[in-house]
Amino acid sequence: MIIEVSKVSPEGSHYEGEEPAEALDLGQEKHVRVASPIRYKLFAEVVKSELVVMGSLEADFSLECGRCVEFFSTTVCVPSFLRAYEIPEIGESVDVGPDLREDILLELDPYPLCSLECKGLCPQCGKNLNQGPCSCPPKEDPRPWGGLDDLKLP
Ligand SMILES: [Zn+2]
Ligand SMILES: [Zn+2]
Repeated sequence: MIIEVSKVSPEGSHYEGEEPAEALDLGQEKHVRVASPIRYKLFAEVVKSELVVMGSLEADFSLECGRCVEFFSTTVCVPSFLRAYEIPEIGESVDVGPDLREDILLELDPYPLCSLECKGLCPQCGKNLNQGPCSCPPKEDPRPWGGLDDLKLP
């Protein structure tokens, strides 16, 4: 998303559109899938020697739940994007794209959950407990010294 400084009107200009999300560099990230372009609504204004860009962004993702490892859909929103670019340093146009992507990535939850009530996987058989209980026996007392209470001293 490139803003040509000379075309920004003195009162500021509005920009609305989409930035291709393939540009989101997720590298080897297997737990995140991009599901839409980045949608932006921006307002740009020249203030003294700076181009000030502000607005909101959102993009759809498919994320892997940290508990049940199922993918679920979510929308990541950046309600208050704000950047100021020095105009003399960068010439006549400003590429806002890298900053749009950066802010969206910062908003991604590092430990996403499909739901706060997600029951996760059974640690014994690996069944997704959101789909119903498994048939594993109830867990043993996890306290290592739990059995000591039952010891009878002579
Ligand atoms: Zn889950
Ligand atoms: Zn189980």
